Amino acid sequence: MNEFALIDRFFKRTIHDPYVRLGIGDDAAIVVPAPGQELAISVDMLVEGRHFLPDVDPEALGHKVLAVNLSDLAAMGARPRWALLGGALPEADERWIEAFTRGLFALADRYGVTLIGGDTTRGPRNFCLTILGELPAGTAITRSGARAGDDVWVSGTLGDAMLALAAIQRRTAVDAALLPVLRARLERPEPRIALGERLRGVATAALDVSDGLTGDLAHILEASRVGARIELAAVPRGEALAAKMAGPERGLALSCLLAGGDDYELCFAASPDARERLEAIASEVQVPVTRIGALTAEPGLVVRDEGGATLSPLPEAFDHFQ
Ligand code: ADP
Ligand code: MG
Repeated sequence: MNEFALIDRFFKRTIHDPYVRLGIGDDAAIVVPAPGQELAISVDMLVEGRHFLPDVDPEALGHKVLAVNLSDLAAMGARPRWALLGGALPEADERWIEAFTRGLFALADRYGVTLIGGDTTRGPRNFCLTILGELPAGTAITRSGARAGDDVWVSGTLGDAMLALAAIQRRTAVDAALLPVLRARLERPEPRIALGERLRGVATAALDVSDGLTGDLAHILEASRVGARIELAAVPRGEALAAKMAGPERGLALSCLLAGGDDYELCFAASPDARERLEAIASEVQVPVTRIGALTAEPGLVVRDEGGATLSPLPEAFDHFQ
């Protein structure tokens, strides 16, 4: 199968979006943003051996390539619209590509995302997806709008993806009944799109937790020129992680909870006046949100343990170059 037959068969689909003037098949796609809207644009790359293993389930990978990008839009409060996919493949393995696109399009269809273009080449397997989203002009939730006195919130639970990886790599053991849930957190993250959109006008700053809570929260602190005090006991965790926190593997549990990557939950700041509104939003979109601390005028991030003592040193966030 040649390159163009492959694109036609697996990536080109009938487009139902009237705002796409031109999709796959020309030198560039043409889209029309709705009046009064701005575009939020982001790109994320997943590389074999670094972000996924050679034996990854291709359907789950198709899901994840899009999910991690949708998560960035969620953090801005944007509504996802269009995507472009750059892919390198070692060979035209039809079954593999079919499963990959099944995972990709299933998630795309759930959020009304149209694939409008991309690039396909032979090479070590990696995928680079560009996502475009819309939001009313001037309403994006950035990292820089937080103020001292704001509450700090996170959605869902943290640390499950890193705990899943540790379990898969047999660095720890988890209850067999809990493993499928953990695995799903790692392999099929659920972007918090509905929550993100509802946070516009409520959250003063937000980001998605892809590299660990403390490292990612530090980006908000830096951009907003504030500090934070976080209560460890308040940081939401799943059952498997909660069990480890109280036992001999507390060190691992702390790393997962505070520095574990790949969770794709939202961390955001909001005025204490917004508490009731946030609880209402959370129940409407059916994503739990938890208040984990507050922003302070003094710079720096302090995490207080269950007894009120400052946790030091903090587990380190993941960094590709360290
Ligand atoms: P060009 O060489 O002019 O850049 P290509 O031959 O790379 O064009 O691609 C032909 C068309 O197929 C373009 O519209 C491009 O956006 C689209 N395309 C290529 N690869 C993909 C892909 N993996 N997913 C979606 N669209 C793709
Ligand atoms: Mg090209």
